[in-house]
Parts: sequence; C-alpha cells; structure tokens
Amino acid sequence: MDKKAELLKLKKDLESRKDIPLMNSATDVVFGDGNPDSEIMFIGEAAGYNESVQHKPFVGQAGQLLIKTMKETLELNREQVYITNVIKTRPPDNRDPLPDEIEAFAYYLDKEIEIVQPKIIVTLGRFSMAKFIPGVTISRVHGQSRFVDFADRKYLVFPMYHPAAALRAGHVLTEFKNDFTKLYNLLNPVHVSPVGNSPPPAIVDPQLGLF
Ligand code: URA
Repeated sequence: MDKKAELLKLKKDLESRKDIPLMNSATDVVFGDGNPDSEIMFIGEAAGYNESVQHKPFVGQAGQLLIKTMKETLELNREQVYITNVIKTRPPDNRDPLPDEIEAFAYYLDKEIEIVQPKIIVTLGRFSMAKFIPGVTISRVHGQSRFVDFADRKYLVFPMYHPAAALRAGHVLTEFKNDFTKLYNLLNPVHVSPVGNSPPPAIVDPQLGLF
C-alpha cells in the first residue's frame, strides 16, 4: 500500500471511532494534509473554526501566515509538505487541549509519522513541541534543531512558535520569520566560498547536508 492509501485508511479508522474525546461524528475529523512523500512534516495543535469547516489543517488566519511565510522563505507551497495536528478535531472555543485528549489522538499522530517518515519534524507551538522535547519552554528552544529518538527512529525536530502566537505579538512574529530562515538554512546547506588558498567549501552547520 502506498503512503497516500495508508493515510486514508488511518483517517477512515479515526472517523469510525466513537470513544475518542472531542469526536462526536466522523465529520469532526481534520486529518493531516499535503504531500505524504515530503521530507518535512509540520505539526500544529488542533483544528480551529475554519479548519473544522473546511476539513483541512491550517486554513484560517494562522494557517495563512504559516503558508505565506513558508512560501516566502522555504519557497515551498502547502502541497509540497505534510501538515497535521496533535488533536484532529476542534476543541470547544479553541481552548487548549487536555492531557487525556492529547493521549487519545496520539496513536493517530504516531501512525502518521510512521507512514510519512519525514526527515524533519517542525513543531508549531508548545503542545506538539512537548511530544518530542518535554520539559522545555518554547521561548528558550525555538529555532534550535535537535535529533530526537522517536518510535525506533531518529528525527530532526525543529521547534517553532505557533503562527497564532506570531499573529498576537510583533516580537513573536519576528522570531517566527527568523526561525523560518534558519529552517531554510537547515534544508539548504550553505557553503563558504573559498578565498585564496583557503580550504575547500565547508559545511557551516554539522547538521546540514542531511538532504
Ligand atoms: N492551529 C493549529 O494548531 N492547527 C490548525 O490546523 C489551525 C490552527
């Protein structure tokens, strides 16, 4: 079965569940979207109103900022990456997800990661960050990639602020855009030009050259 078919099967399985909090009917589900062969997976928090209407993650205001910044910095559009959420429905009044809700949907996020097998996981906001990097605050670690062991594999995890937080505060927006530039540099290794007899081009960041 190809990745697309596997993801569709997983989505159907979730839609059939009656025992998951925040799930009243199959139409509540906002499943991951985009290119299942992408090397980059973005993971947000939970669907908001617009996402619950369009059944697609990150289509509201925060999503528009995410997609626009991605296009401007990474030169990628949403169809080229895979985008999903920790919670695959909309919490009432867009409240923060509760621990038992995160736990209930974890199987589906874990399976998505297992199917897509991205090389880099970009976490958007503290809830998806906490899945891979527990016990840290986003203001301290955003924009710093690290390898994380997860489900018998190593993933490069790149924590970022949630775009909704960037919409609320100018300084967060600046950091959000700066982090996208760092992500671009991570994905596109920069080589130092040789000057005179200097050594051949060196990879600036040891984590570069991954792709
Ligand atoms: N915020 C999220 O975390 N995910 C969405 O899909 C939309 C807004």
